[in-house]
This record gives sequence, C-alpha cells and structure tokens, in this order.
Amino acid sequence: MTRRQNRNLIRIVLSFALLITASALPLSGIFRLTACLAAYLITGYDVILEAVRKIFRGQLFDEQFLMAIATIGAFVLNEYSEAVAVMLFYQVGEWFQSIAVGKSRKSIASLMDIRPDTATVIRMGERVTVSPEEVQKGEIIEIQPGERTPLDGVIILGETSVNTSALTGESLPVDLKTGDRIISGSINLTGTVRVQVESEYEFSTVNRILELVENASAKKARIEGFITRFSRVYTPIVVSLAVLIAFLPPLIFSLPFSEWIQRALIFLVVSCPCALVVSVPLSFFGGIGRASKSGILIKSSSDLEMLSKIKTMVFDKTGTLTKGAFSVRRVVSAKNDEAEVMKYAYLAERHSGHPIAKSICASYETQESLPESANVTEKSGLGVRAEISGAVILAGNEKLLSQFGIACVSPPDAYGAVVHIAKDGEYLGFIEVTDEIKPKAKISVQKLKTLGIAKTVLLTGDRREAAIRVKDETGIDEMLSELLPQDKLTAVEALIEHSSPIAFVGDGINDAPALTRADTGIAMGTMGSDAAIEAADVVLMDDSIEKLSEALKIAKKTMHIVRENIIITLGVKIAVMLLGAAGFANMWLAVFADVGVLIIAILNAMRTLVYNTKKAA
Ligand code: ADP
Ligand code: MG
Repeated sequence: MTRRQNRNLIRIVLSFALLITASALPLSGIFRLTACLAAYLITGYDVILEAVRKIFRGQLFDEQFLMAIATIGAFVLNEYSEAVAVMLFYQVGEWFQSIAVGKSRKSIASLMDIRPDTATVIRMGERVTVSPEEVQKGEIIEIQPGERTPLDGVIILGETSVNTSALTGESLPVDLKTGDRIISGSINLTGTVRVQVESEYEFSTVNRILELVENASAKKARIEGFITRFSRVYTPIVVSLAVLIAFLPPLIFSLPFSEWIQRALIFLVVSCPCALVVSVPLSFFGGIGRASKSGILIKSSSDLEMLSKIKTMVFDKTGTLTKGAFSVRRVVSAKNDEAEVMKYAYLAERHSGHPIAKSICASYETQESLPESANVTEKSGLGVRAEISGAVILAGNEKLLSQFGIACVSPPDAYGAVVHIAKDGEYLGFIEVTDEIKPKAKISVQKLKTLGIAKTVLLTGDRREAAIRVKDETGIDEMLSELLPQDKLTAVEALIEHSSPIAFVGDGINDAPALTRADTGIAMGTMGSDAAIEAADVVLMDDSIEKLSEALKIAKKTMHIVRENIIITLGVKIAVMLLGAAGFANMWLAVFADVGVLIIAILNAMRTLVYNTKKAA
C-alpha cells in the first residue's frame, strides 16, 4: 500500500469510529450535529474540495459533485448518520479502487523485473561495473550465471543456457554458444559468457519493451470513449431528473417537500457512475497485464478491443508460418562451376539481413581472401544488387533479374525459394533454399477457426509453388504470391475494404507497411527487430504461432468482462434508482447498491488478470 492509501484508510477508520460513538452516545441537537459533521469532514473533505474546485472550473455534474450535494442535502434533512455513511462508503469504494488499480499496474510491472541494474564491461582488460546506459556499442561485457543480460549482443566466448521467460513467457531454457545472439532481459543460467554489445541500452530489446509497457494505457479504447461521453450526458440528465422528483410532485399534488427531496437525494446517490468509470479501464488494464505475462504485448486498450473483433487473419509466410531458418538445398550452375555461383551469392548477400541471405552466407566456406562489395542495394521482395571489383552482381528472384533484362526460369521441381545469380549481365546459375513450416502452424490455424476467425489468407513474396505448399500444409483458406512489399500493402487494403476488421501477422521483414495498415498488426519473433515492434499493435515476444490464439482468447475474455460490468452496474443502478424515486429505497440501500456494485465490478475486472487460457475451451 502506498502512503496515500494508508492515510485514506486511517481516515475511513477514524470517521467510522466517530460515527459509531456519536450514534451510541445519547447525544442530541447541536452535539450530535458537531460529532457527525466532524466524522463527515474527516472522511469527505477532499471530495467536497474537489467538487467546489470543479464547480469554479465549470465542470459541474461529476462524481464528486453528486456525492457533495447528496450528502449535504442529507444533512439539511437532519439525516446526519446517513450523510456520513454515504461519504464513508464512497471513500471505501475509492480506496478499493486505488488498491485494484495499483495491483494490476504492478502485475504489468512484474515485467519491469526485466530491467537490468548493472553491466560488467571489460575495459583495458579489467572488469568494470557500470550502469547499462554507459556501455557503448561494440564493447565487450561479461555475464555471470544468475545475472540478467543487460544489453543485446553476440556471444564471443563461452556457452550457456538462458531463461527468457520474462520476455516470452516461455519457461524452457534456451542453449546458446559462441556466435549466438543473446537478448537483454534474459537470465543467464549456467555459464559465464563474454558478449560483444550490438546496440546501446536505449535501443536494446529490454528498453523497448519497457517503453511499450509504460505507454500501454495511453490510447483509449472506443468503449472507454463511450463511457466518457456517456457520463457527460448521463449526469446532467440524472441531476435534472432529481430536481423534477424533488419539486414536481410536491408542487402539483401538494405532497410533503422533505419526503420528495429525500427521494431525490437517494436517486442522486445511486446514480453515481463511478463503478462504470472505474471498472472499464481496470478490466483493460487486467487484460493487457495478463497478456504480457504470456509474452504478448498489447500496446493499448484500443488495440485490445480491435483484436477481439478480428474476423480475417492474414499471414506473412517467411518467419511467420515457416521457421525463417533456410538451408541451401542445391546449387545449380549454368557453366558447371557451382563454387563460382556460391561465391558471388555470398559476396552480394553478406550485408543483407534477410533470412535467405543469412542461410546462403552461413553455408559458404572458403580459404580465398575475398574482395569487398560496394554500392550494395537491397531491393525488398526482390533481392540484392552489389558491385564487386567493378562487376555488377545480382542475387534475387526472377523479377529482379528481369528488371535488369536477364531472362531466367526457376526449375519446376523447386519447392523452396530460388535465388538466381548474375554477373555483369551474364546468368551464372541459381541456389535453392528451403524453409521448414513451423510444426504447430497447422494446429494453430485450425484453432483460430474455433475462435471466430472466418478467413485466413497467406501473403508472400515467394514463388507460387513455394506458397502453395505452405497453404496446403497449414490449411489456410486463400493465398497471394510473388508480392512486393507494396503489393502486400495493397492486398491488405483490398481485404480491409471487403472484410474489416483484419489482422496482419508478420515478422517485420519486408512487411512493416502491411503491419501498420491492418486493423491489428501482429508482429512475431521480433526480439530485436525494431521496425516490427514499432509498426505493430500487438507484439508476440517469441515466434511461437500458438500465441495467436492465446492473444485472441485474452482479448475476447477482457471485452466480455467489460460488457458484463457495464450491464451489471447499469442494471443495478437503474433498478435502485426506480425504487428510490418510488419511495421504496432508503439512503442505506442506495449506499449499498452503489458501493456493492462498485466492488463487484472491480472484482470482476480483476478476473482478466488471472484468466487461465489453457482451461477455457
Ligand atoms: P515473404 O513474403 O515470404 O516473407 P519476402 O517479402 O521477405 O518474403 O521476400 C520475397 C522474395 O524476395 C523471396 O522469396 C526472394 O525470392 C526474394 N528476396 C528478398 N530478399 C532477398 C535477398 N536478400 N536475397 C535473395 N532473394 C531475396
Ligand atoms: Mg517476410
């Protein structure tokens, strides 16, 4: 509990004790009024102050205003204890609410545990302990077992296994050896490793995630906007109704004023919309927190709301449905010189970050000292053009080569991606690289169907033959192949026109525009990929495609609870309001209805946080 929560609790207890004492003692007249007024002010002075401040700012008709006039009115009607009780319960509700908000904030912040405190950097052969922000790119750090990895980098010495569960929700340790990437925020389990730092702390995976989480509740959901607009019209209507209840019947039917004013006050107390105003954002908070525990980062409540409505899911192929880890299947030369094909492919591709390029480079070995490549341009969705010792080298698909006026055909029996190589306008040959479909892809796509996804679509820059294989093996409904990044965007736009809302699932390599344009952009397998994290609305921390259905479930459950809360609170309120206007409810019932429903709504909202996606079918 915070200091403020403690203080408010003390105020509640004091005021309550005073109220009990005042009721138990045979006080009357001015003494009873003084005691009750003291109890009232102890617990309620801040509400009154806030109400007055808002009146001066012209913001009539909000929560505090309702509470202030209802309780002051009760005092005027000689209902001292009731006045204190109304304020007291209101404050109990507020207290509960601040605890609940604090709790879900904390559970999101349990992710904050991933923040590393220090880094051990090797400078002039000595170990120096510094804060992660002080380490420069390219420096060498040492990470001991038990320590949290402070920065992203590549292991240059030693091997170990790491736990990435705080980042990905995946609890199995991952084995790493020299040459592997190690991600900041993961915990080093077994061995001491030396790591060459790849980027400064500001751009590290861990810092990006933290920034994301901290900004998570900034963008409001549509339904939250609805609540705000709703209270803007609701409160004036309620207050006008209360005025009518207080004055119309006495004036028209000459009924007793005090009786009807009291009914009006009860009506006002019940009408307070705080349960609604509180529980809706709280439910979203819970849902976002719950998702982050599974390594699913949902950027805002409006993104969560949109995710719950998705009907069409569009997939990128490489890295999303397939592992994105290619291996060279065969090398074919036009001139019987496979080594030459591999060499030029390597020289052109070695500066590219594309998974195809990486696989080609990884499988190339030579003793030769190689020339540098110059003027390297990567053409998204096509391939690479580079100059090596003055010669123009092309490495890419048929489209790329045809742009340079070179004819080539991919062999009909190729089922992977085919990288054609040309040197100075002369065709050298091709390399076929294949990628494996993720083992859980098929089952995950099937699961989506049971979660209300009506249509699945595959978009890829790869050849038609390779796309068909993936479509058939995963059970995806439709597919479009040989797309450039801008074609993927156009395809997504066309789909949005026909069947909104759609989600695009990709890895950010050549598909960031589509990620941004889709109603929900879902990036996966993105540890370290800035573009994707930036462009997406939902980020899956690892590349396990099963997380998609988990994300959908959490979003749907959260929206369900939000709606439940709206219905429960409005239902109870309207019922008690009617009872109050009809004279069947007293101030006590009004208070219980108000606080009771607030607490029910809060508890209901907290269910999002503990939602078990495995149990729910
Ligand atoms: P996907 O839609 O499957 O994710 P991309 O858009 O990343 O595929 O790439 C589409 C196609 O462009 C690849 O299948 C390949 O033919 C070609 N390509 C892209 N980048 C490269 C590269 N660096 N080297 C060779 N070919 C490439
Ligand atoms: Mg891709």
